[in-house]
Parts: sequence; structure tokens; C-alpha cells
Amino acid sequence: MAIPAPPTKSPPAFPANEQYAGQSCSICQTAVIAGEQMLTCPHCALPFHAECWAENRGCSAYGCKGAPPTVKSAETQPVSNAWGEEKPCPSCGKSIKAEALKCRFCGANFDTRDVITRKDYESREYEGTEYNAARNKVVMMFLLSAAACLAPLGLILCSMLIFNKSLAGVQYSRLPMTLKAVLWCGLGVGSLLVFLFLLLVAFDR
Ligand SMILES: [Zn+2]
Ligand SMILES: [Zn+2]
Ligand SMILES: [Zn+2]
Repeated sequence: MAIPAPPTKSPPAFPANEQYAGQSCSICQTAVIAGEQMLTCPHCALPFHAECWAENRGCSAYGCKGAPPTVKSAETQPVSNAWGEEKPCPSCGKSIKAEALKCRFCGANFDTRDVITRKDYESREYEGTEYNAARNKVVMMFLLSAAACLAPLGLILCSMLIFNKSLAGVQYSRLPMTLKAVLWCGLGVGSLLVFLFLLLVAFDR
């Protein structure tokens, strides 16, 4: 029995030819332009922009073997909103198709097809790979703060992320409580180490 291909493995992309030009990408719901890099789902044959497929990590069709697990839940929610066919992008505000999981203008990704406000979009917690990436960066900043001679650097990074709200692609408002706590610990530990170091220097002479 054939084992279904893992959803993360991308089918080969090709420039859109006559057969596909004008068809809608099932992720951003925008027509594929002739020559644009695109691909089709190996399981359901729906067309996608190569870029949209990569960002979605697979097909957007509900129940398709090529779909990543996160889209399956998003797809089950019926799309109904006061905006009809279109909805405002929560990131750039431009009008995009109601079904879109990704904004064609600014590239923002949403994990739901529902209309979300800009505030909700910016404060939604990290999930999946986004969460992993954010967690790695936060843990890194914490470790720097706790590493003797690098403490000043870690301290600066932690406080920049806390007080400037974003750093290195991580948004403070989107971090879950645990990671926020890790950052504050980094701030604390880093400050302590820097303080002790200054104390040491002061009493050394
Ligand atoms: Zn697309
Ligand atoms: Zn598919
Ligand atoms: Zn946008």
C-alpha cells in the first residue's frame, strides 16, 4: 500500500502556463498570473502560488492529504461575515478575499478564515512553527542574560523585546505567558549579573 507523501514535501513549482493562468490560488484566493511560480497539489490537483503553498506548508483543501494539520481546523469554520466576499486584511487593511488565509498584498498569514481585527491579529499567540521560532529566540536571549560575560548583551536584548514590543521578528504581545516570564527572568538575571560585575570592578581596586 502506498504511503501518502508528508504534507511538508513540496511538489515541483513551475511558471504558470495557459492551462493555469487566471485560476485562483486556493490560499490567497487571487488569480495566478501567467509566468508566476505555481504548483498543484499532488493529492487534489488544486492550483497554488508556490510561495503560498510554502507558507501554508501544504494544500488548503479540507481533508486533503496534502494539507497541514492547522488548516484542517480553520477550514471547518463556515465563512460568514458582514464583508461578504471580501474582508479587510488585519495587517495592512487592504481588501482581500473572505476565504484567504494569506494576504496577497502584505503577505500576512492568518490561521483562520474569519475576519480578525488588527488588534486580535497582533495579539494572537504564536502557534506551531511560529511558536517554535519565537521560543528559540526568547530562550536564546535568556541564556545570553544568564551567561556571565554575555549578560549585558542578553539584558539589552530582553529589555528591547519587552519595552520595544518587538525584536528579531518576535512580537512581545504575541508571546504566551510562559515566554513572557522567561524574558522577564532574563531581564532579572541579566541585571543581577551586570550589577555583580560592576560591584566586583568597584571593589577590585
Ligand atoms: Zn496564492
Ligand atoms: Zn490538496
Ligand atoms: Zn495585508
